[in-house]
Amino acid sequence: MPIFEFQCEECGEIFEELILGGKLEEIKCKKCKSSKVYKLISQVAYKSEGKFVSSGGSGCSSCSGGTCSSCH
Ligand SMILES: [Zn+2]
Repeated sequence: MPIFEFQCEECGEIFEELILGGKLEEIKCKKCKSSKVYKLISQVAYKSEGKFVSSGGSGCSSCSGGTCSSCH
């Protein structure tokens, strides 16, 4: 599911929005209806096969331990 996190420039509200068809420019703040929102590229931890995988960490998708000592 393409759910992204956004923050409003006007009021600082952070909200999640389901993006269908890549229509980022139609996203509006849920609180003040401003269209001045930007996508948060954050430390999103998403669940994968029962394990928490952190993007931008030291691990990679082929090693679950998070250290990459065996695959690099
Ligand atoms: Zn707002």
